[in-house]
Amino acid sequence: MARIDELTNCPECNSSWDGGDIFETLRPQKWCENMSDDELREDVHKHYAPPHRFSRLVGVEVRGGYDGVSFWECPDCKARWDRFTQRKVVNAHASSGSAVE
Ligand SMILES: [Zn+2]
Repeated sequence: MARIDELTNCPECNSSWDGGDIFETLRPQKWCENMSDDELREDVHKHYAPPHRFSRLVGVEVRGGYDGVSFWECPDCKARWDRFTQRKVVNAHASSGSAVE
């Protein structure tokens, strides 16, 4: 099975997690209005991994748990997967941080 964060669609509800091309998304933003297309493209390639697209997949951190993303959550159906085992998490509600070891 592919890693959850490498999928382009939710295996549960099949909604697209494609958040769009990073360059196209950033170009109209104000912070980079003085950058040329080439400069912005270079910046995107420096800071983001290929294929340089945003993902709508939500990284969930558990307070008091692992320092970083512990779960991936679909923004549409709220299904969650354990980041380490890639397994779907059943009955993990919101950010209660009550994940059982
Ligand atoms: Zn979903």
